[in-house]
Amino acid sequence: MAPSPMTTSSPPIELSDRVASGRSSEVRKVFQAAMRRPGIISFANGSPFLGELPFDRLADEAHRILTELGSTALQYGTSNGIPELRRHIVDLMALEGIAADPEQVIITAGSQQAIGFVAHATVNPGDVVFAEGPSYAGAMAVFSSYEAEIVHVPSDEDGLIPADLERLIGGARAAGKRPRALYTVPNFQNPGGMNLSAERRGLLGRICQDQGLLLFEDNPYGLLGFDGGTMRAIQPDAPEITFYFGSFSKMFAPGLRLGWVLAPETMHQHLTDIAQTAALNPSVFNQLMMAAYLDNPSWRDTLATYRGLYRTKLEALVGALTEHMPAGTTWNRPTGGFYLWVTVPPGIDTHELVHEAIERGVAYVPGTAFYANGAGRSELRLSFCLPSVEEIRHGTAILGGLFTEALA
Ligand code: PMP
Repeated sequence: MAPSPMTTSSPPIELSDRVASGRSSEVRKVFQAAMRRPGIISFANGSPFLGELPFDRLADEAHRILTELGSTALQYGTSNGIPELRRHIVDLMALEGIAADPEQVIITAGSQQAIGFVAHATVNPGDVVFAEGPSYAGAMAVFSSYEAEIVHVPSDEDGLIPADLERLIGGARAAGKRPRALYTVPNFQNPGGMNLSAERRGLLGRICQDQGLLLFEDNPYGLLGFDGGTMRAIQPDAPEITFYFGSFSKMFAPGLRLGWVLAPETMHQHLTDIAQTAALNPSVFNQLMMAAYLDNPSWRDTLATYRGLYRTKLEALVGALTEHMPAGTTWNRPTGGFYLWVTVPPGIDTHELVHEAIERGVAYVPGTAFYANGAGRSELRLSFCLPSVEEIRHGTAILGGLFTEALA
């Protein structure tokens, strides 16, 4: 006999305090709402455009890996990742002035996991983690899950303002709190699109050192400058306190789920232990695929193609914003990465309007998703990485119309 359908719902399971006090991701909510509407133009996703990847070559590599190395590729591996890929990672970081030994690198399932491991190892409840205002929602969610207090540091076009960081550290200490770390995305920041100036990089490293803060340097977008240049990382100037996070998600693809952390030497074993407890090891097959992609120098040409595409998309977006946004709207002009930051005139609430935008066929992420303190109702993030130029033009016209109506 078929089991009868359940008619009573089971009582809710009591959540841990840590989870109960967390807030669910607004970015994810917007994605979910957007996904339900076929044909939606999404400025919400930070997903790279993958159409130019050499899929046939990748398929050949997958075949080769499985036929030649199958019983290694599908076996458990070491917790810190395979040496071939760690060597490539060291070469990539050298582009930003980082001199590291492959033994120091820990490979993770995306840099999101690496941020989690480092927070697990270093952040206690009540600790203060400073971050740009606005900041990357995924990292803030990690710090909040370890019950840290996030304090935003004002930023301008040159990134986080060092004098404000110093002032806020002093304020936190005066209030009896423990300033623990600065989390920063120095290159083509998510969500603000700004770039930390060379001068400020030096200053921030020094301030963190002098003040006894850890520095979480998160850099998934560093290779995506439109001009093909890279900036010097902060890590070389403060290696004893810096945890540097890298990712293959934006310069290649997020599907293999591969990122890494370069940690101060004294933390290496702790993080390896945490990695082992959390996940045993990152996928060996995926790491071999990534290493094979990087073995062929043509990855640089593919990346150059992407940089050109993203620049074209940004230009289309800036042109469309100029044409369609109501007077008083402002935006920046990033020189790389995936994101542009918009500030709308008073009278428009981007948090309220996102549902109507989705109804009309366009998704964006309201600014509130990127502040831990409820700010951001007059701001929004537009990701220009995924939609086509046509969609960018059409989607911006729809948004411009919606915002203009909201002001009327
Ligand atoms: N840091 C930043 C600033 C990001 O934008 C992202 C992804 N959106 C991540 C970390 C996590 O990336 P992944 O886990 O895919 O490497």
